[in-house]
Amino acid sequence: MNIQTPEEVCQPDIEMAARLFETLRVQGFDGVGITRDAYGAGENAAHALMKAEAEKLGLETMSDFAGNLHMTLAGKDRTAPRILIGSHLDSVAQGGNYDGAAGVVGGLAVVAGLIRGGFVPPVDITVIAVRAEESGSWFPAGYPGSKATLGTLPVELLEAQRKDTQRTLAEHMTDCGCDVEAIRTGQRLFGPDNVAAYLELHIEQGPVLDSEGISVGVVTGIPSSRRLRAGRVIGEYNHSGATPRKYRADAAIALAELAVKLDEYWGDLDATGRQVVCTFCVLETTADASFTKIAGEARFQLDVRSIDPGTVQAVFDRLHQLVPEIEARRHVRFELGGEGANDGVPMHPLIRRDLIDAANAAGVRCIEMPSGGGHDPVAFALAGVPAGLLFVSNQHGSHNPHEAMRLEDFDAACRVMVAWVMQSAGKTYN
Ligand SMILES: [Zn+2]
Repeated sequence: MNIQTPEEVCQPDIEMAARLFETLRVQGFDGVGITRDAYGAGENAAHALMKAEAEKLGLETMSDFAGNLHMTLAGKDRTAPRILIGSHLDSVAQGGNYDGAAGVVGGLAVVAGLIRGGFVPPVDITVIAVRAEESGSWFPAGYPGSKATLGTLPVELLEAQRKDTQRTLAEHMTDCGCDVEAIRTGQRLFGPDNVAAYLELHIEQGPVLDSEGISVGVVTGIPSSRRLRAGRVIGEYNHSGATPRKYRADAAIALAELAVKLDEYWGDLDATGRQVVCTFCVLETTADASFTKIAGEARFQLDVRSIDPGTVQAVFDRLHQLVPEIEARRHVRFELGGEGANDGVPMHPLIRRDLIDAANAAGVRCIEMPSGGGHDPVAFALAGVPAGLLFVSNQHGSHNPHEAMRLEDFDAACRVMVAWVMQSAGKTYN
């Protein structure tokens, strides 16, 4: 006789998930890709869809003062710190259907599986749809939805303007039925006292899992970053035919040398297993450049990220060593301009360990990997809430209409979440 394990009885509801993804696609299609605008009609429609589905499942639903949607499966102890699983429902303009939505739909698929299997969790499990994660596209404010609930949103960000409407975050929130006064007065809904763990499922947005043929990645941390947005190299415009090599001050070649040498250094770090990404996002001559002229000026932007701040520092140390060498040899001057930086956040080590155990229990192969981009677990972790992030393999990156995800990979990730919830609900991580 075959005896099923509890995890096998509580299979995630992938049919429901497929139906939700399809409705989201139809709702969000803008003629090119998917647009679900933050604190706007697109995001609202997605919230309404999830709320209706949650009510069909018998979950308790409510929107908090920042407009985040909570869909709760009641646990045995209603007063104990709960588990939050979720992600965001907004998208960039002309983006894909799965960035964000995979985590909310995944949360519902997991909870539907628990209900179907008759599992009553020891504590409340709340699937949360967090508002406005895509700050690059809409509001210049990092994680306003989750930060508002955690009481960590700087109030001046309520005046941040949405890029397309020029209306403020506060105005958009009011339109969506939020209680902006609660945010202004610093009310807090969530913290380490009442949330045992926040777990997010998100598409990888990169090629690693798909290339390796692995469905699921357990994220080690969100990287810290250091950026130069306004780097310049100043040389001298001169006739390309009449100027011998030793008299040249070629800004373009000096910049190219810096880029290649820094890339070689990244290769050295890579070979010794030190994780970092180093990108010259912009490498260009200026409008003054033309045929028959040696480039007198070049500009660049540099983006360096790693979960190990020491490795980011090592890349910048190498940069600061290369610049005077190249300046002396090539008769140019570098202006590095101002630096931007973001602190990285590790994911909770015990949640990482439990997610790997859960993957083993569910029979799903997984690897550990850093995240490339920022996600809402940053806001939770910085507020002291134990946070975890699970990646699901996807194709064609993200923030574009070609973004794709296979349902079998999504199913594998949801089964890992089911096993994690069944093993970890009721646990204290802090
Ligand atoms: Zn996202």
